[in-house]
Amino acid sequence: MYHISDVKKYLRCPKLFWLSHYEEPLPFNSFVRLDEAVTTLACEKLGITDCFLGARGDEASLALKAMENNEWIVKGRFEAKQLRVKIPFLHKTEQGWDVYFLFCGNRPKDDDMNFYCSSIWVLEENEIDIHNIYILHFDENYVRGDELDPHQLFQITEEFFNDKGNPSKNIKDTVFKRLRNLEDTLNGMDEILKRDVVECTRQNKCTKKNKCRFYDKCFPNELEVDADSILTLVSSQHKYAMHHEGRLKLKDVDLDRIEGSRQQFAQIRASQNDGLYVDYYSLKTWIEEIKYPITFLDFEWETYAIPPFKGMKPYDVLPFEYSIHILHEDGTIEHKEYLGTRDCRRHVVENLIQDIPNEGTIVAYNAEGAEKIRLKEMAAQFPEHAKDLMNLYSRLVDLAFPFVIGAVYDVRMRGYYSLKVLMSLMENQSGYQDLDIHQGMDAVFQWRLLDREDDEVDSEEIRTHLIEYCSMDTYAMVVVYKWLMSLVHERI
Ligand code: SF4
Repeated sequence: MYHISDVKKYLRCPKLFWLSHYEEPLPFNSFVRLDEAVTTLACEKLGITDCFLGARGDEASLALKAMENNEWIVKGRFEAKQLRVKIPFLHKTEQGWDVYFLFCGNRPKDDDMNFYCSSIWVLEENEIDIHNIYILHFDENYVRGDELDPHQLFQITEEFFNDKGNPSKNIKDTVFKRLRNLEDTLNGMDEILKRDVVECTRQNKCTKKNKCRFYDKCFPNELEVDADSILTLVSSQHKYAMHHEGRLKLKDVDLDRIEGSRQQFAQIRASQNDGLYVDYYSLKTWIEEIKYPITFLDFEWETYAIPPFKGMKPYDVLPFEYSIHILHEDGTIEHKEYLGTRDCRRHVVENLIQDIPNEGTIVAYNAEGAEKIRLKEMAAQFPEHAKDLMNLYSRLVDLAFPFVIGAVYDVRMRGYYSLKVLMSLMENQSGYQDLDIHQGMDAVFQWRLLDREDDEVDSEEIRTHLIEYCSMDTYAMVVVYKWLMSLVHERI
């Protein structure tokens, strides 16, 4: 028996489907927290008081039979030609059955048509007369009060949204236009599972959106590429072709076949220049803007699909931790941190305002996409502190900027410029490899255990690991900043 996720994998890449079938599944840990029983809330929105409620492992005939006597079928399991689907809500009307999909996001787009079409194909194969198709989704403007209100939390739409966030295409029309018979696909899936070997064919789908989890397995040679290999060229459409032709190093690149970004330019110049390229003028100009005391700031946060606390909206985030390292002009360094659980938003805000000096530059890594947004969100949720928070916002500078604009490139970066990568270049510095938490999402997963007061875990140990990880981020920023300064000073 197959599920829609299998069809999606097969359509993305037969080898991905084949590997996923035979390899150990990865433990599931969602990037977004969804603690509430979302189906129960949606039932309230739809006014469902009496229904047939399906369950995992149900015979497919159960839901079909239940349709004879029930107005609502919730989580009904249906099957056709070995494909099994779960339909969130089916509602009997005089004109036929209305299908309600549940989208735990703000604006459903038509980018998951394999899911909608596969579900509807199975219903059609079961000769269910479909009258209309709706999607229940979160209302991004809903602000939670003391209690969660499902009637305001959800919206019901008959249309997919476009990239500008406006309703654009009727869902039923779009799905029926794209509906295909899945028999050949399912037969193809059967056939591929009988094979002992499936070839990999490199394709855009290997890295598009989310890099395929089997990438390193399919292309193990890329793990061992030289630091200045042409394969490290960023955002390059033709690097594999050039490599195939024997252009092995960045400096061998065919200039007519690169996109011409500043990062690519920096990479090629570094390869021509014994491994390091520095645009001294740009870097010096950037450093001159930074004033002491310099506060290096990093937040860790949780993202909630459904707002858990008053004043929050769907998909709002809750910063639960920050670390700051303060570098003074005389070279001394101070460290401060905060780590809270549950609704610690106010404590985070008040401690942060107190901990950061009233003057000097605040530096964060990828500040535009993270710390700046967090400060703005906090200002909106705590208007009484908005002035102080927006003052911090106005002093924020992004340490990633010199790397984004290609002002600095060391071939050992191999096309990446995360703090972890940069720290690995620094001699005599202990880096992330010595920590128990190695990346941001691991910190969030650990914090969830702390926040849920899980008796099975050692909260003190988790606290220590979280503080070490967040502190490493701000410490790494100090090290990288000093390195950038040294590059300019060496030149002078
Ligand atoms: S890395 Fe590419 S070829 Fe390999 S399984 Fe993934 S999508 Fe398929």
